[in-house]
Amino acid sequence: MLVNKFLHNPRNQGQKALAVNSTLPTGFQRLIPTRSVMWELDRILATELEAWAASDLTRTLQSVEPVGSRHLRHADGTCLNFASNDYLGLTRHPGVCDAAARAAQELGSGSGASRLVSGSLTIHHRLEEGLADWMGTPRALVFGSGYAAALGVIPALVGAKDVVILDKSVHACCVDGAHLSGARLRVCRHNDLDQLEDHLRWARRNLASSNGGRILVVTESVFSMGGDIAPLEALVDLKERHGAWLLVDEAHALGLFGGNGAGRVRQLGLENRVEVQMGTLGKSLASGGGFVAGSAVLVDYLIHRARSFMFSTAPTPAASAAAHVALAVVRSAEGQTLRKTVWDHAHRVADALHPGSTPDSPILPVILGAAAEAVSAARRLREQGLWVPAIRYPTVPRDQARLRITVTAGHTPEDIDRLIEAITPLVARIQRGTPAASES
Ligand SMILES: *Cc1c(COP(=O)(O)O)cnc(C)c1O
Repeated sequence: MLVNKFLHNPRNQGQKALAVNSTLPTGFQRLIPTRSVMWELDRILATELEAWAASDLTRTLQSVEPVGSRHLRHADGTCLNFASNDYLGLTRHPGVCDAAARAAQELGSGSGASRLVSGSLTIHHRLEEGLADWMGTPRALVFGSGYAAALGVIPALVGAKDVVILDKSVHACCVDGAHLSGARLRVCRHNDLDQLEDHLRWARRNLASSNGGRILVVTESVFSMGGDIAPLEALVDLKERHGAWLLVDEAHALGLFGGNGAGRVRQLGLENRVEVQMGTLGKSLASGGGFVAGSAVLVDYLIHRARSFMFSTAPTPAASAAAHVALAVVRSAEGQTLRKTVWDHAHRVADALHPGSTPDSPILPVILGAAAEAVSAARRLREQGLWVPAIRYPTVPRDQARLRITVTAGHTPEDIDRLIEAITPLVARIQRGTPAASES
């Protein structure tokens, strides 16, 4: 039906529908199970998918159900979950879940419009006041996701006349935001302050000769795939010396660092020297959404210029209410206890992976090199009842495929025993030097 309609539309006459079995690369026929023809588009895309499969880079969505705060049920059984960024285990906190349920009951399941049209609810404003107070900034602005926050804030601040300098390991959303801005881009080797200074000098020279312009440095306080941290104090000194602005993505530091869990910028007392802090509500804050924290002028400006804020439906009442209560838990004595638990777990796993080492964060990568290695290690752990994700290109460089272990306050000490026991063979291989492992 659809196919006939498509072919009879005069606008589509140049297009071809092809017989499935003759042209589809083997292995991908299952992708089009119910149609008798395939589009040329399908044939072209399937050929590309086949090439990814040949490099062990096939991704599949695996259907899982969370069971309690630590387990995932999947097609072949139930696993302990070492893949979640819900570091404090708050997605299962009764107060957080109750707040989400009540907000949906009282305010509806959706917010109905962009904040600028009619969707700016009291719960959004309360959440933003709470986030700003927590981060130590005058204001904060909530977005639909952390990804959307980056895509909104970077192009709002810089454009074609400006320069963005990125750490090589920043999250895809900051890379994409930088590209979208149209600014000239420079990428620094990971945490390399000397190269950053070279790029800052280059940018200053270039901008001076073209009538000035802005320089924005972008980094993460805790790196999402390496679990290591940025030298924030030195970075702040450097950007100040060269008249640049700094954006710090705190996605993986929130909930974990500093007495109130507000992240590394606040922990180091740098909140008045970092122009833009960014975070997600989807990790320790146990909900969904993202935010930018900074000055009142910055937030007012973003309301006028951050397109992913302006032209996107406001976060749901349930998501905002859940994050608001999660934030209160993070800042409470209960949050302090949960932080201690997750750090205790991280210390044990770090010591098992690299005896005598201390963890930078609860993200504990085991770098294995080739994608096939990481995939088969993840499969073996899955068979032992442990869900540890294999992370491959393009999430990490091609030769740095890894297992990415995350521990949370939801785990018990016995869960960590089981993890350590299961990864011991891998650890032995790393200690023998095969494969070469480096954590950064
Ligand atoms: C997860 C993550 C994001 C994106 O946040 P979402 O709310 O999941 O879109 C941004 N930056 C970093 C470093 C992240 O790890």
